[in-house]
Amino acid sequence: MGSGGRPLALVIEDDLRYVRQLRGDLAVGEFGAVFAGTGAQGLHEAVAETPDVVLLDLGLPDMEALSVFAQLRDACDAPVVAMSAREDDAGMAEALDAGTDDYLPKPFDLDALLARLRAVLWRAPGAEVGAPPAFESDGLMVDFAAAEVSVGGRPVALSASEFRLLRFLARNRDRVFRPAQLVEEVWGPEYAGDRHLARVYVRRVREKIERDAHAPRHLVTRPGVGYMLRKRG
Ligand code: CA
Repeated sequence: MGSGGRPLALVIEDDLRYVRQLRGDLAVGEFGAVFAGTGAQGLHEAVAETPDVVLLDLGLPDMEALSVFAQLRDACDAPVVAMSAREDDAGMAEALDAGTDDYLPKPFDLDALLARLRAVLWRAPGAEVGAPPAFESDGLMVDFAAAEVSVGGRPVALSASEFRLLRFLARNRDRVFRPAQLVEEVWGPEYAGDRHLARVYVRRVREKIERDAHAPRHLVTRPGVGYMLRKRG
């Protein structure tokens, strides 16, 4: 947490229009904020300020954004939300493949920004009320409250978005969801058109929870329909 118990956001963005917007939006959302206009400065601030979340523009003047992202992962534990223009689908898929925790298409509004930040920080108030504590099936354990996943008793590290996807499927076990439905449920209605998010994340979750990601036993595909998490035994 940043000073005064407010979460601290590090914004790595060179476009002053977005810097101005984010300065105002983050203040409304009660985030502390640190700004960096280059990748190099951003990496410096990531070490110096230990932010709770990083907003990373995918088009920076001095460094490839994915190289900044890789170095951010070494520099701090904060989840990273990639930002870029909506038409830049390649950049988005690349960023998600590289392991960023979430994606914010530009231009965005205050609600979209705060939804992404809450999602990656998983501190949405009241989100866990009344939910069953865990899902367990054939060695796979998803602990909703502790936000922990293990396979055969061994902990598995998931990114925030990977965990949200798995948690949603676990809470709705044995139900098939179309990719577009999954995206809407996990990322929000403004992402409903981005069906490839589901495919990218299903693949990543499988690689972490399945013994053989190509022959999944837990997170299975119903051809022509979608995905479901199967409760076994
Ligand atoms: Ca830029």
